[in-house]
Amino acid sequence: MNFPPGFLEQLTGISGFSKDAFVAAHASGLSVTSVRLNPQKPLPVFPPASLKIPEAISSDLTTAPIPWCDTGFYLSERPSFTFDPLFHAGTYYVQEASSMFLEQAMKQSVDVAVPLKVLDLCAAPGGKSTHLQSLISKESMLVSNEVIRARSYILRDNIIKWGCENVVVTNNDPRDFAELEGYFDVVVADAPCSGSGLFRKEPEAMEEWSENNVQLCAQRQQRILADILPALKNGGVLIYSTCSYSVEEDEAIGNWLTNEHAMQPLQLSIEPEWGLIESGNGYRFWPDRVKGEGFFLACFQKTDGQDSYKVKPGKQMRLAAKEASAAVKPWMNITGKELIMHEQTVYAWPEKSVLDFHLLLEKLRVVYSGVRVGELIREKLVPEHALAMSTCLAGHVVRLQLSLDQAIAFLQKKEFELESRQKGWQLATYEGFPLGWINVLPNRFNNYYPKELRILKEK
Ligand code: SAM
Repeated sequence: MNFPPGFLEQLTGISGFSKDAFVAAHASGLSVTSVRLNPQKPLPVFPPASLKIPEAISSDLTTAPIPWCDTGFYLSERPSFTFDPLFHAGTYYVQEASSMFLEQAMKQSVDVAVPLKVLDLCAAPGGKSTHLQSLISKESMLVSNEVIRARSYILRDNIIKWGCENVVVTNNDPRDFAELEGYFDVVVADAPCSGSGLFRKEPEAMEEWSENNVQLCAQRQQRILADILPALKNGGVLIYSTCSYSVEEDEAIGNWLTNEHAMQPLQLSIEPEWGLIESGNGYRFWPDRVKGEGFFLACFQKTDGQDSYKVKPGKQMRLAAKEASAAVKPWMNITGKELIMHEQTVYAWPEKSVLDFHLLLEKLRVVYSGVRVGELIREKLVPEHALAMSTCLAGHVVRLQLSLDQAIAFLQKKEFELESRQKGWQLATYEGFPLGWINVLPNRFNNYYPKELRILKEK
């Protein structure tokens, strides 16, 4: 493996860096596969049969828990996630293990049981956002932001698949949050970086690396943080992370935060057997010490600024009329929800966060909020895919159990045989987990799985 010129020299002297072990870990070609389970969609067994991990290793050796994340598991090999319907049902997220350390940062630095306003600033494709959503309470709200428009749509799709109800997806530059001074209890900044931590997984990333790019990334990280810090309340927590090994993007950013912004480092308690290295104000993941890729994370508490933002009623969206509520009731559990109309589309927002959702609509470019329930056409609801994926879906909606082959054909939007005699809207499920909608007509059925999400690969 040929590292870029100057790369290994840059790492010399950093806590925990051992050149020979680091080079050997990269040369090994070891690929670590890990997933995080969705507590809102609990699987009876993991790994499910549909993941098709060969029998020979389908024993206790197939999965091993990730010690810093209660819902994280290593897999003994990388199966085909694409052809597992339970992946598309949002029962788990494929995520790099080191990144799941975010769980410790959250659990140890804030009380996750109380209602929180959390911002995930650099959120696409949604690994940390789906994790944060699983960690916070139902009464909390997550703003999941991505500055690049096309990536914000991928983020929205992953938020929908995870079945979230208390998330607002936005597409803003960090500086757009300036008006929300003192608003957030927690800001997670998983900053864009030079990406050296992923060299083992994606060797092509080495071509992009240069010392100059590390400097540019560090400057951008400072800009992002300087822009967003006013939106964090006094006493609030900043979780900063990168997948870079460079001190300039890691410890040096931590020093800059503590020296130039009233940010106090927070120490986390870690187990020695996890293999992490405490360095500067943060924690380093070296691939020769940890079963995972390169990662850095540090936590800080803000010690000045506004205490909290007072949310006042502002411009309001139209609440759904009685007829709309009547049309929605057979489809979803509306307890604790406020139904909002935007043109003909009904959204369900968490009742407790309605003022906040309005505020965010006014101040930011909102891509998605709450649950998109469906469209009202002649006082009837045409259900949306997001409703099928959400946990507020009514239990009595008619369900159609698909076999593995049918489920894959459904997800590919290919023709398949259906035995259903019942007409009308039905929820296509696999092993009890919703995949999307089917409308059964007298002579055929329509598949409402979103075209842009369909599986394109051939088996
Ligand atoms: N947190 C994500 C996850 O766990 O799935 C990964 C985030 S990735 C490391 C960094 C993100 O920052 C990218 O989605 C990138 O588009 C975004 N980004 C790039 N430039 C940015 C900027 N100037 N301000 C904020 N975010 C930016």
